Amino acid sequence: MSALKIYNTLSREKEHFEPITPDHVGMYVCGPTVYSDVHLGNCRTFISFDIIYRYLLFLGHKVRYVRNITDAGHLEGDRDEGDDKFTKKARLEQVEPMEIVQRYTVGFHKVMELFNNLPPTIEPTATGHIMEQIKMAQEIIANGYAYVVDGTVYFDVEKYNKEKPYGILTNRKLEDLLEGTRELGGQDEKKGRLDFALWIKAGPEHLMQWPSPWGMGFPGWHIECSAMSEKYLGKQFDIHGGGMDLAATHHTNEIAQSQACYHVSPVKYWMHTNMLTVNGVRMSKSAGNGFLPEELFSGSHPLLEKAYAPVNVRFFMLQTHYRSTLDFSNEALQAAEKGLKRLWDAYETLTGFVPEQSSTGHDIDPELEAKVLKLVNEFDEHMNDDFNTAKVLASMFELVPVINSIKDKTIALTALSADTLTWMQSRFKNYLEDVFGLKAVNEADNKKLQGVMQLLIDIRKGAKEKKDFATSDKIRNQLSELGIALKDEKGGEMSWSIESP
Ligand code: AMP
Ligand code: ZN
Repeated sequence: MSALKIYNTLSREKEHFEPITPDHVGMYVCGPTVYSDVHLGNCRTFISFDIIYRYLLFLGHKVRYVRNITDAGHLEGDRDEGDDKFTKKARLEQVEPMEIVQRYTVGFHKVMELFNNLPPTIEPTATGHIMEQIKMAQEIIANGYAYVVDGTVYFDVEKYNKEKPYGILTNRKLEDLLEGTRELGGQDEKKGRLDFALWIKAGPEHLMQWPSPWGMGFPGWHIECSAMSEKYLGKQFDIHGGGMDLAATHHTNEIAQSQACYHVSPVKYWMHTNMLTVNGVRMSKSAGNGFLPEELFSGSHPLLEKAYAPVNVRFFMLQTHYRSTLDFSNEALQAAEKGLKRLWDAYETLTGFVPEQSSTGHDIDPELEAKVLKLVNEFDEHMNDDFNTAKVLASMFELVPVINSIKDKTIALTALSADTLTWMQSRFKNYLEDVFGLKAVNEADNKKLQGVMQLLIDIRKGAKEKKDFATSDKIRNQLSELGIALKDEKGGEMSWSIESP
């Protein structure tokens, strides 16, 4: 039996992880809706799944990791109400919807790279899989679980629920779910209040639309993930992930669609990450508390006391288990900065120890040896316990004083066996670099860079005040050539950010 246990939202239990095909893992994670910049909350979810992906690779699995790009179909309300997010933004900016998609897809990739997230192995887009979505909707209609009203295709939730429990993922009865939704009005064309659209008729105002058996339209948001996961991972696959907020509607509908189409439960392990909050309030665009990663890296948001390097933010996230809420604060981030520095310094010290110089025999301190082995072996135990990165880091921090004492020579290097030392060195490397995807931040260089940038910004400001635009443009252009972007903020302030190559 595999040692890895995963908390499955569906069973509400930690289960031993057994891939459907031994050693091969299929994982699907709902990707961003690219009509705006991703905020730090979105990043938390993607970083959590990056760690999960990296750990599965570390365990020796061959992983197909599919993370989609939602570039059509996501209306403002998760239950198909409101405007199309892409059309609205494109209208506002007077550009093509695909220009919106392109801009925010590129931005998303940049942010993922800055956080050192590995790219997924497949990144399919909704617009690239219109045929697959139409076909799935047709099959669901043929199986009797969907109906067409004036060019829109609805999934019949109440009919489905007669055979399969619709609210199975979040353990809720249909009656309870119905209570939370509004009554249908006279002009509603849906049969049931919980019915959701598989395909939506497009009016002339819709900028993105495709021909279908039901006329011009565009796919619903939920069908996209069902169609693309089936295409690349099959009718049944191992892991499906996303933020907790997706479980009640989006993922619940995905299960219903796949069951109605293929008569099987699509996913073996449903995984949901908890929310990033600010002062206890979930970070979201609508709450106005959504820091953009660039604001964080340049310190340009009013709630931020300073700039924070991406690796420190990543480390801050790993210090909390992915199923707990994580509250953002300047103090917590500054504590994480100090923590990572202390840990990384110890790691570099540890790497410098030469195992041949440690003991082969009588100098070994059995108590110390046992303590070190226990803590190092705990790394795997904690990760196998539903990816508990927080506990791995706690075990590492318990080893820091031992490493520092060896460095200070208050403990002799010979108190540890060469085998234990080598084991500790390789485990630190495996975890810090490969699984956690961390790296050193050179704080001294970072501070110098902040200082130099502030100096340039001040000079540029002075030049502009004197109407010396040649100098101010020169500074902006040459920085841009170096990959550093300057941005005008409200109140005449300037911020800067390093663009990834
Ligand atoms: P979206 O682009 O809105 O579809 O969201 C992309 C991913 O980010 C989804 O998996 C969401 O569940 C997740 N997400 C949204 N807000 C937060 C938050 N505050 N903390 C963690 N994850 C979030
Ligand atoms: Zn999805």
